[in-house]
Amino acid sequence: MKKIYLDYAAATPVDPEVLRVMMPFWRGQFYNPSSIYLAARDARLALEQARWEVAQILGAKAGEVIFVSGATEANNLAIQGVMRLQQEAEVVLSAIEHDSVLAPAKLFAHKQVAVSKQGLVKVEAVKKAISNKTALVSVGFVNNEIGSVQPIRQLAALVAEINQIRQKRGHKLPLYLHTDASQATEFFDLHTNRLKVDLMTVSGSKIYGPRGSGVLYVRAGTKLQPVLLGGGQESGLRSGTENIANVVGLAAALSKAQSQRAAHAKNILKLHGLFVAQLKASIPSAIVNGAPDAQAPHIIHLTIPGVDNELLAMELDEKGIEVGLGSACRASDGSPSRVLSAIGLDKRLSQSSLRLSLGRPTKQADISRTVRILSNLVNKV
Ligand code: PMP
Repeated sequence: MKKIYLDYAAATPVDPEVLRVMMPFWRGQFYNPSSIYLAARDARLALEQARWEVAQILGAKAGEVIFVSGATEANNLAIQGVMRLQQEAEVVLSAIEHDSVLAPAKLFAHKQVAVSKQGLVKVEAVKKAISNKTALVSVGFVNNEIGSVQPIRQLAALVAEINQIRQKRGHKLPLYLHTDASQATEFFDLHTNRLKVDLMTVSGSKIYGPRGSGVLYVRAGTKLQPVLLGGGQESGLRSGTENIANVVGLAAALSKAQSQRAAHAKNILKLHGLFVAQLKASIPSAIVNGAPDAQAPHIIHLTIPGVDNELLAMELDEKGIEVGLGSACRASDGSPSRVLSAIGLDKRLSQSSLRLSLGRPTKQADISRTVRILSNLVNKV
């Protein structure tokens, strides 16, 4: 039985080209880039070349690229890094941030901004939440559960306007904007001079790069305190011997994702549209969540009233179709997802929800087969 994997928002397989550039750094060129001998200098060169490549793609300076171990670490460094230096200050975030944003934000004074039923944050609402004590706004680019796309450029314009007012009034506290772009990298422009964010999280594991790789983009002049202390690597912001294989792999994956993002988006959007049309025809009661006018191409979040999502996912798995629940239930306490509560789904509807996420290998035939099997299973219930 041919498997159909539809959980690309959770993990992507490593691109063979990416794997190829990584391989030498696990064995032959295994050196620590801080060592003194010539061979180690080649490792340092590979590290700095990858940094330069990532910087070019993000429209950044090399010094603004901090290599980390993934999105969780980047989010922690952004939030704890800014807020530890501003103990009296507060952080404003949306009500649907990933736990790796919410949990560090909870260490400090924080405000969560409600989202619409489509999972969109309103710039006006963020403006209202910002006070003279706000040092950081953190809003994820694409929500990982429902795929809604936030107005990051408009939020950046708001933050710039507030900084201008603060400067005029002699108010010393800078206001920074952070975005977790983990789910956006495959399809959206991450050029920082166009986005105008101060801090941005990029993850390798969602773009066919290595697991446990990531970048925190830190705009020059943004004041951060490191979270990991030690040997002072990555300009003192992230101690620990650099993982050159992962860094080189991340650069290659980011380069492919960003240079081909228009083509990726076009392909996946077509499949997305096909899925939704076929689904509506065969399961009329199904509800597609998210923001039709601001939706990430790869994420399809569904509620099928009356079905148990865990049972359905298991039955789909038996038929060779792998889908996610999109964190519909948090493993720790069984409570419904915060994101689904925030868009107005009650516990029952949350537990009837599935997340399907499409990727580069997804084919039209996979979509048709998935809808056919899904509707057979749902009709049986
Ligand atoms: N942020 C978002 C938006 C994500 O989708 C994920 C992964 N589900 C993370 C952060 C955490 O990524 P990682 O586990 O690779 O650190």
